[in-house]
Amino acid sequence: MTCPGCNGKGKQITHPDAPLGTVYECRKCHGLFGSLYLGEFYQLVRLTWCRCQTDSAPDLTGRYFDFETLGSHGVDRRHGWFHEPCKGLLQVG
Ligand SMILES: [Zn+2]
Ligand SMILES: [Zn+2]
Repeated sequence: MTCPGCNGKGKQITHPDAPLGTVYECRKCHGLFGSLYLGEFYQLVRLTWCRCQTDSAPDLTGRYFDFETLGSHGVDRRHGWFHEPCKGLLQVG
């Protein structure tokens, strides 16, 4: 699998047996991508904004994600950047 963010090579990291729970980590940018159930996605990324940014820490390092999620409304694509320490969103799309 190739990282949609930087075209780096991804290595599979979790849920190796689940056909819809396949997560890859990019070796280059450390982004996360693949496909998984919505419930699994919410364990990785929250759907609320990160509030860690302060005047003394204006630049937070985000982690790229690009997932196909399967929920009760079908398949969706969710991608952007999140702040790993709090799992909050930094940028969507
Ligand atoms: Zn990448
Ligand atoms: Zn944060």
